[in-house]
Amino acid sequence: MYPEDDLLPLSAVADFVFCPRRAALHRLEQVWQENAATAEGHALHARADSGAVESRGDLRIARALLLRSLRLGLTGKTDIVEFHRLPECAAGVKLPYASGVWRPFPVEYKRGILRHEEAYAVQLCAQAICLEEMLQTTVPEGALFYGLSKRRLDVTFTENLRRATDEAAAGLHELIAFGKTPPPIYEKKCTKCSLFDLCLPKTTSGKRSAVRYLAEALA
Ligand code: SF4
Repeated sequence: MYPEDDLLPLSAVADFVFCPRRAALHRLEQVWQENAATAEGHALHARADSGAVESRGDLRIARALLLRSLRLGLTGKTDIVEFHRLPECAAGVKLPYASGVWRPFPVEYKRGILRHEEAYAVQLCAQAICLEEMLQTTVPEGALFYGLSKRRLDVTFTENLRRATDEAAAGLHELIAFGKTPPPIYEKKCTKCSLFDLCLPKTTSGKRSAVRYLAEALA
């Protein structure tokens, strides 16, 4: 169990799975870079961030719920948690101002078109684990909603995904405790990374440091 002071943001887990260097640049060096993609992502999250609660038949929708898991050492805010009504005999959670029992179903907004991204699945699974810990219930599924295609991808929280989430949260904590940013490794995914221009993965990979690259460039 992690103490409250050591909790890290849920979104950092997605960064860590995508690239540990990206997580370190954000969390250790406070390096952020806005591009069209991240701006679009912020706009999507802002729309989900109203805090409003909706009620539609056997569905309740809560927005911007604060979450935390002391076991994973993570905290953050959901875009949406749907609560689906269960049969009376089923095990679920009670909701204020609503009869019956309900099952939480987290939904995370992402930019772009429908696709599977391991980093996003892990982030969503971490939200589910937070809900399970806070509400003492089970959360077997959630969904990723892709803004451009306006379609959602259901995600089942399998044993493998839960293990990957545990490992990612532990790895993120180790990275932050170690306190050093790992060197870049240029891969195809770097072209999608908003930190590309600051990270310089092509020029600082391997033994070439950023300082040496700059010295060579200036010379
Ligand atoms: S550009 Fe590549 S190496 Fe650098 S932070 Fe992004 S994904 Fe990681």
